[in-house]
Amino acid sequence: MPIEQAKKEMIKIAKKMYLSGMVNIFEGNISVRLEDRFLITPSQQSKEDMTEDMIIEVDAEANVLNPSELYKPSSEIMMHLEVYRLRPDVNAVVHNHSAYATAYAVAGKPIRTKALTEVMVIFGEVPVVPYGTPGTERIYAGFAEHLDSRNAVLLANHGLMTVGDTLLNAYSQAEAVEKLAQTLLYAKLLGGEEPIPEEEAVQILAYGEQIRKKAMAAKP
Ligand SMILES: [Zn+2]
Repeated sequence: MPIEQAKKEMIKIAKKMYLSGMVNIFEGNISVRLEDRFLITPSQQSKEDMTEDMIIEVDAEANVLNPSELYKPSSEIMMHLEVYRLRPDVNAVVHNHSAYATAYAVAGKPIRTKALTEVMVIFGEVPVVPYGTPGTERIYAGFAEHLDSRNAVLLANHGLMTVGDTLLNAYSQAEAVEKLAQTLLYAKLLGGEEPIPEEEAVQILAYGEQIRKKAMAAKP
Protein backbone atom coordinates (compact mmCIF):
# COMPACT_ATOMS: atom_id res chain seq x y z
CA MET A 1 0.00 0.00 0.00
CA PRO A 2 1.37 3.48 -0.83
CA ILE A 3 2.56 5.34 2.26
CA GLU A 4 0.17 8.30 1.83
CA GLN A 5 -2.83 6.00 1.58
CA ALA A 6 -1.71 4.12 4.71
CA LYS A 7 -1.39 7.40 6.64
CA LYS A 8 -4.87 8.47 5.52
CA GLU A 9 -6.30 5.20 6.73
CA MET A 10 -4.55 5.55 10.09
CA ILE A 11 -6.05 9.01 10.61
CA LYS A 12 -9.49 7.67 9.76
CA ILE A 13 -9.19 4.82 12.27
CA ALA A 14 -7.66 7.05 14.99
CA LYS A 15 -10.66 9.39 14.73
CA LYS A 16 -13.10 6.51 14.67
CA MET A 17 -11.46 5.11 17.82
CA TYR A 18 -11.77 8.46 19.58
CA LEU A 19 -15.33 9.14 18.44
CA SER A 20 -16.49 5.68 19.48
CA GLY A 21 -15.28 6.47 23.02
CA MET A 22 -12.62 3.77 23.03
CA VAL A 23 -9.82 6.19 23.99
CA ASN A 24 -9.49 9.64 25.47
CA ILE A 25 -7.73 12.06 23.16
CA PHE A 26 -4.17 11.16 24.16
CA GLU A 27 -4.60 7.45 24.80
CA GLY A 28 -4.08 4.51 22.53
CA ASN A 29 -1.92 3.99 19.49
CA ILE A 30 -2.09 2.50 16.03
CA SER A 31 0.61 1.17 13.73
CA VAL A 32 0.87 -0.28 10.25
CA ARG A 33 3.56 -2.35 8.52
CA LEU A 34 4.60 -1.27 5.04
CA GLU A 35 7.14 -3.00 2.82
CA ASP A 36 10.25 -1.22 4.12
CA ARG A 37 9.04 0.61 7.22
CA PHE A 38 6.41 0.95 9.92
CA LEU A 39 4.04 3.84 10.57
CA ILE A 40 2.93 4.70 14.09
CA THR A 41 0.78 7.39 15.68
CA PRO A 42 2.64 10.12 17.61
CA SER A 43 2.95 10.38 21.37
CA GLN A 44 0.72 12.85 23.24
CA GLN A 45 -1.28 14.08 20.26
CA SER A 46 -5.04 14.28 20.09
CA LYS A 47 -6.57 11.37 18.19
CA GLU A 48 -9.41 13.66 17.18
CA ASP A 49 -7.20 16.29 15.53
CA MET A 50 -4.52 13.99 14.15
CA THR A 51 -3.24 14.74 10.66
CA GLU A 52 -1.05 12.79 8.26
CA ASP A 53 2.07 14.90 8.86
CA MET A 54 2.07 13.76 12.51
CA ILE A 55 2.48 10.07 11.65
CA ILE A 56 5.96 8.76 12.47
CA GLU A 57 7.88 6.46 10.12
CA VAL A 58 10.31 4.03 11.74
CA ASP A 59 12.46 1.04 10.86
CA ALA A 60 12.39 -2.32 12.68
CA GLU A 61 14.75 -0.96 15.38
CA ALA A 62 12.49 2.05 16.03
CA ASN A 63 14.85 4.53 14.36
CA VAL A 64 12.74 7.45 13.14
CA LEU A 65 12.96 7.89 9.37
CA ASN A 66 11.10 11.21 9.16
CA PRO A 67 12.46 13.12 12.19
CA SER A 68 10.36 16.01 13.44
CA GLU A 69 10.80 18.62 16.14
CA LEU A 70 7.15 18.40 17.04
CA TYR A 71 6.20 14.75 16.99
CA LYS A 72 7.69 11.70 18.67
CA PRO A 73 6.61 8.09 18.18
CA SER A 74 4.21 6.56 20.69
CA SER A 75 5.96 5.39 23.85
CA GLU A 76 4.58 1.92 23.09
CA ILE A 77 6.47 1.62 19.84
CA MET A 78 8.63 -1.33 20.95
CA MET A 79 5.48 -3.26 21.83
CA HIS A 80 4.17 -2.77 18.28
CA LEU A 81 7.49 -3.73 16.68
CA GLU A 82 7.63 -6.89 18.79
CA VAL A 83 4.24 -7.95 17.38
CA TYR A 84 5.51 -7.51 13.81
CA ARG A 85 8.65 -9.51 14.64
CA LEU A 86 6.63 -12.38 16.11
CA ARG A 87 3.83 -12.40 13.55
CA PRO A 88 4.83 -12.04 9.88
CA ASP A 89 1.12 -12.30 8.97
CA VAL A 90 0.25 -9.13 10.89
CA ASN A 91 0.25 -5.76 9.14
CA ALA A 92 -1.52 -3.59 11.70
CA VAL A 93 -1.68 -3.22 15.50
CA VAL A 94 -4.32 -1.31 17.47
CA HIS A 95 -3.95 -0.56 21.18
CA ASN A 96 -6.47 1.18 23.40
CA HIS A 97 -7.86 1.36 26.92
CA SER A 98 -11.56 0.92 26.10
CA ALA A 99 -13.50 0.73 29.35
CA TYR A 100 -15.13 -2.70 29.36
CA ALA A 101 -12.19 -4.63 27.91
CA THR A 102 -9.86 -2.77 30.28
CA ALA A 103 -12.10 -3.71 33.21
CA TYR A 104 -11.24 -7.35 32.45
CA ALA A 105 -7.54 -6.42 32.13
CA VAL A 106 -7.63 -4.64 35.48
CA ALA A 107 -9.37 -7.60 37.11
CA GLY A 108 -6.76 -9.88 35.53
CA LYS A 109 -9.53 -12.00 34.02
CA PRO A 110 -9.56 -13.35 30.47
CA ILE A 111 -12.71 -12.77 28.42
CA ARG A 112 -13.94 -16.32 28.35
CA THR A 113 -17.50 -17.65 28.12
CA LYS A 114 -19.67 -20.58 27.23
CA ALA A 115 -22.73 -18.39 26.93
CA LEU A 116 -21.97 -16.01 24.06
CA THR A 117 -21.24 -17.81 20.80
CA GLU A 118 -19.77 -14.72 19.11
CA VAL A 119 -16.87 -14.68 21.59
CA MET A 120 -16.43 -18.43 21.27
CA VAL A 121 -16.24 -18.40 17.45
CA ILE A 122 -14.28 -15.19 16.83
CA PHE A 123 -11.84 -15.23 19.74
CA GLY A 124 -12.11 -18.53 21.60
CA GLU A 125 -11.04 -16.39 24.50
CA VAL A 126 -9.19 -13.13 24.96
CA PRO A 127 -6.28 -14.02 27.28
CA VAL A 128 -4.47 -11.73 29.71
CA VAL A 129 -0.79 -11.10 29.05
CA PRO A 130 0.98 -10.71 32.44
CA TYR A 131 1.66 -7.16 33.62
CA GLY A 132 4.66 -5.23 32.39
CA THR A 133 5.41 -1.55 32.97
CA PRO A 134 4.10 0.45 29.96
CA GLY A 135 6.93 1.65 27.74
CA THR A 136 9.34 -1.09 28.89
CA GLU A 137 10.20 -4.43 27.31
CA ARG A 138 8.43 -6.24 30.14
CA ILE A 139 5.11 -5.23 28.63
CA TYR A 140 5.65 -7.60 25.69
CA ALA A 141 7.57 -10.38 27.46
CA GLY A 142 4.41 -12.54 27.36
CA PHE A 143 3.56 -11.90 23.70
CA ALA A 144 5.35 -14.93 22.28
CA GLU A 145 3.24 -17.22 24.44
CA HIS A 146 -0.12 -15.47 24.09
CA LEU A 147 -0.10 -13.94 20.65
CA ASP A 148 0.95 -16.95 18.58
CA SER A 149 -2.59 -18.06 17.82
CA ARG A 150 -4.66 -15.00 18.75
CA ASN A 151 -5.47 -11.59 17.33
CA ALA A 152 -6.69 -10.01 20.57
CA VAL A 153 -5.05 -9.96 24.00
CA LEU A 154 -5.63 -8.02 27.20
CA LEU A 155 -2.57 -6.35 28.73
CA ALA A 156 -2.89 -6.86 32.50
CA ASN A 157 -3.67 -3.67 34.46
CA HIS A 158 -3.53 -1.68 31.23
CA GLY A 159 -5.77 -2.28 28.22
CA LEU A 160 -6.40 -4.14 25.01
CA MET A 161 -4.26 -4.92 21.95
CA THR A 162 -5.60 -6.30 18.69
CA VAL A 163 -3.77 -7.20 15.49
CA GLY A 164 -4.76 -7.98 11.91
CA ASP A 165 -3.69 -8.47 8.33
CA THR A 166 -5.23 -5.04 7.64
CA LEU A 167 -5.78 -2.00 9.84
CA LEU A 168 -9.54 -2.29 9.44
CA ASN A 169 -9.46 -5.91 10.61
CA ALA A 170 -7.28 -5.06 13.63
CA TYR A 171 -9.61 -2.20 14.55
CA SER A 172 -12.80 -4.20 14.07
CA GLN A 173 -11.44 -6.79 16.51
CA ALA A 174 -10.98 -4.04 19.08
CA GLU A 175 -14.57 -2.88 18.59
CA ALA A 176 -15.85 -6.45 18.82
CA VAL A 177 -13.92 -7.19 22.04
CA GLU A 178 -15.23 -4.02 23.66
CA LYS A 179 -18.85 -4.75 22.76
CA LEU A 180 -18.65 -8.37 23.89
CA ALA A 181 -16.90 -7.45 27.15
CA GLN A 182 -19.75 -5.01 27.84
CA THR A 183 -22.39 -7.65 27.16
CA LEU A 184 -20.70 -10.19 29.44
CA LEU A 185 -20.36 -7.66 32.25
CA TYR A 186 -24.05 -6.77 32.01
CA ALA A 187 -24.92 -10.46 32.08
CA LYS A 188 -23.19 -10.63 35.46
CA LEU A 189 -25.48 -7.84 36.71
CA LEU A 190 -28.46 -9.89 35.60
CA GLY A 191 -27.40 -12.81 37.74
CA GLY A 192 -24.70 -14.42 35.65
CA GLU A 193 -24.31 -16.27 32.36
CA GLU A 194 -26.54 -19.10 31.28
CA PRO A 195 -24.21 -21.39 29.32
CA ILE A 196 -25.24 -23.21 26.17
CA PRO A 197 -25.23 -27.04 26.37
CA GLU A 198 -21.66 -28.27 27.06
CA GLU A 199 -21.53 -30.56 24.03
CA GLU A 200 -22.39 -27.67 21.72
CA ALA A 201 -19.95 -25.34 23.48
CA VAL A 202 -17.12 -27.78 22.82
CA GLN A 203 -18.10 -28.02 19.15
CA ILE A 204 -18.37 -24.24 18.71
CA LEU A 205 -15.01 -23.59 20.40
CA ALA A 206 -13.36 -26.23 18.19
CA TYR A 207 -14.99 -24.73 15.09
CA GLY A 208 -13.70 -21.24 15.98
CA GLU A 209 -10.19 -22.54 16.59
CA GLN A 210 -10.22 -24.29 13.22
CA ILE A 211 -11.28 -21.08 11.43
CA ARG A 212 -8.59 -19.00 13.18
CA LYS A 213 -5.86 -21.55 12.44
CA LYS A 214 -6.89 -21.70 8.79
CA ALA A 215 -6.89 -17.90 8.49
CA MET A 216 -3.42 -17.67 10.02
CA ALA A 217 -1.99 -20.50 7.92
CA ALA A 218 -3.24 -18.79 4.76
CA LYS A 219 -1.08 -15.72 5.44
CA PRO A 220 2.61 -15.48 4.54
ZN1 LIG B 1 -1.67 1.88 26.68
